[in-house]
Amino acid sequence: MYLNFENKTVLIMGVANKRSIGWGIAKELDKAGAKLIFSYSKERSAKGLLKLALELSDLNKEPDMVKCDVTSDEDIATAVADLKVKAGQLSGIVHSVAFANKDFLGDAYSAVDRASFAQALDISAYSFTAIIRAAHQAELLADNASLITLTYLGGERVIQNYNLMGVAKAALESSVRYLANEYGPTGIRVNAISAGPIRTLSARGVGNFSESQKMVEERAPLRRVTTSEEVGTTALFLLSDMASGITGENIHVDSGYHIIG
Ligand code: NDP
Repeated sequence: MYLNFENKTVLIMGVANKRSIGWGIAKELDKAGAKLIFSYSKERSAKGLLKLALELSDLNKEPDMVKCDVTSDEDIATAVADLKVKAGQLSGIVHSVAFANKDFLGDAYSAVDRASFAQALDISAYSFTAIIRAAHQAELLADNASLITLTYLGGERVIQNYNLMGVAKAALESSVRYLANEYGPTGIRVNAISAGPIRTLSARGVGNFSESQKMVEERAPLRRVTTSEEVGTTALFLLSDMASGITGENIHVDSGYHIIG
């Protein structure tokens, strides 16, 4: 009963293709009966996303999609207005969006330039705050809405090559705590999922990514890499009423790797 998402609409931001973690989450939410609305950053991403979204269960109608390049305040405002029309209210937002100049995802962290730093922090951290604020101001969020973002252990610890993205994830994780505290009195919950390394388009930009997966296979308690479906079921839990007492949390879905020193 708690996992019933009928009559709940969730916005999913950040599905690039079928390997995306956002897609792993979308599939689980779809199985639970949620109505999904997808956002995409560029017109050229829309066609692939539409094709993918058509694989979901409700094939009788076109999937709902809104354009939202998170670097644009105008896009965010337009997307929120579109969502108001399409959904009225959202029960959840899945923020599965990040970007960093790959020149700074390897070698020395200190080499990062000002523009690349600002861009990574803008897209990967600030955007979560910006979308939540805009959605809340437009009264788009349901009273008990659950908002989640995706992070990685490199935001808590030094992980070789993660560099600039690690700093962005630290800001994102801190944002989760401040947002949880600010919106808690309204009943809105804000949480993060810290996923283990999963082979996606974005992951390909991180130097020596295969090595991170190998480390998990060799050293994580479960001795295997995590799947996006496992992240999906955790997201389902956090977005559901079963997690009504959880906010400001960062749940690791990483085969237990984060406990290894
Ligand atoms: P994907 O490349 O599949 O997804 C990243 C998404 O971010 C894409 O859909 C991309 O859209 C979107 N995005 C980038 N820039 C913008 C922008 N300006 N506006 C709107 N959307 C944008 O990679 P993942 O699924 O791996 O990444 C999803 C999240 O999971 C990220 O936060 C990532 O850091 C996190 N994560 C990933 C891990 C991994 O090992 N893969 C581990 C832990 C966390 P588009 O392509 O249209 O630009």
